[in-house]
Amino acid sequence: MKNIPMNFDQLFQIETCRAAVGCPNSNLDAGYLAADLEEIFSRLDFTARLRERLGEEPVLLHHIFRVSVSGCPNACSRPQIADFGLVGQVEPQLNPEACTGCGACVSACPEGAVSLEGDFPSLDREKCLLCGNCIRACTTGAMHPGEKGFAVLVGGRMGRHPRLAYRLADLARRETAVRRLTDLLKQYLESGRPGERFGAFLDRCGIFSEVGG
Ligand code: SF4
Ligand code: SF4
Ligand code: SF4
Repeated sequence: MKNIPMNFDQLFQIETCRAAVGCPNSNLDAGYLAADLEEIFSRLDFTARLRERLGEEPVLLHHIFRVSVSGCPNACSRPQIADFGLVGQVEPQLNPEACTGCGACVSACPEGAVSLEGDFPSLDREKCLLCGNCIRACTTGAMHPGEKGFAVLVGGRMGRHPRLAYRLADLARRETAVRRLTDLLKQYLESGRPGERFGAFLDRCGIFSEVGG
């Protein structure tokens, strides 16, 4: 796991899993994405504006806005308990003409979402977590990447009232994920109360339903 160091000079933290330094399970370039996200906070002058809103109140750990990026649904950087989380996803697609029926994709799926029916694998989309293991296990390219994108998670937290994040979208495009973070941060900076956590802000303003969750 790679952390951008947390200090009270900067009121946001962007945490990535090992995908930022190379992980064979990753479905995204986490380091590149984290740099993009950091740029959003700088552009919005997030730290100065949040500090201004806190006024005389001392800065505490939970005031720091946490972003967490994971390269795959193993979610090693714990995006489910971050204010904003992104998880790399890939949708498996099958080309039956290239399939030898070897069954490697069946063994590779921890969810039991792939089974052999006759000579070919069959995918259960309800069970699939879009991790891409079956794609990486297939040596013929028959199981190949379809759509790629991000699960977008918002409003997770620990503390006195812990809660897992809301899931806003699956397979969201990079531009969509970046735009959603930008829009939500703007609203939080404009309408949040002093010391109010992001998840509580989303609940109070009903923003979660507005953004399509
Ligand atoms: S979340 Fe996935 S990509 Fe990131 S370190 Fe864990 S296994 Fe690797
Ligand atoms: S691993 Fe590839 S070749 Fe083997 S059964 Fe699955 S899709 Fe077919
Ligand atoms: S993407 Fe992951 S969860 Fe979905 S079928 Fe393949 S191995 Fe199973």
